[in-house]
Amino acid sequence: MKKDLHPKYYNIIVKCSTCGTEFNVNSTKEHLQIDVCSKCHPFYTGKMGANVKAGRIDKFNKRFAQTKK
Ligand SMILES: [Zn+2]
Repeated sequence: MKKDLHPKYYNIIVKCSTCGTEFNVNSTKEHLQIDVCSKCHPFYTGKMGANVKAGRIDKFNKRFAQTKK
């Protein structure tokens, strides 16, 4: 019987550096750092929070409008 076949899982608390949400996860790593989570990611929230991102979207839309024709 090989006991070391599977990696060891740690039950750790991960903190999102963007919104500060903490949640429990099982990970092969003892420490984990994330920049975005399901609570603050634009894809999940449906809204663009940062002005920088909104600016990029605006530029993209303008460029797209020009090339669209
Ligand atoms: Zn978050």
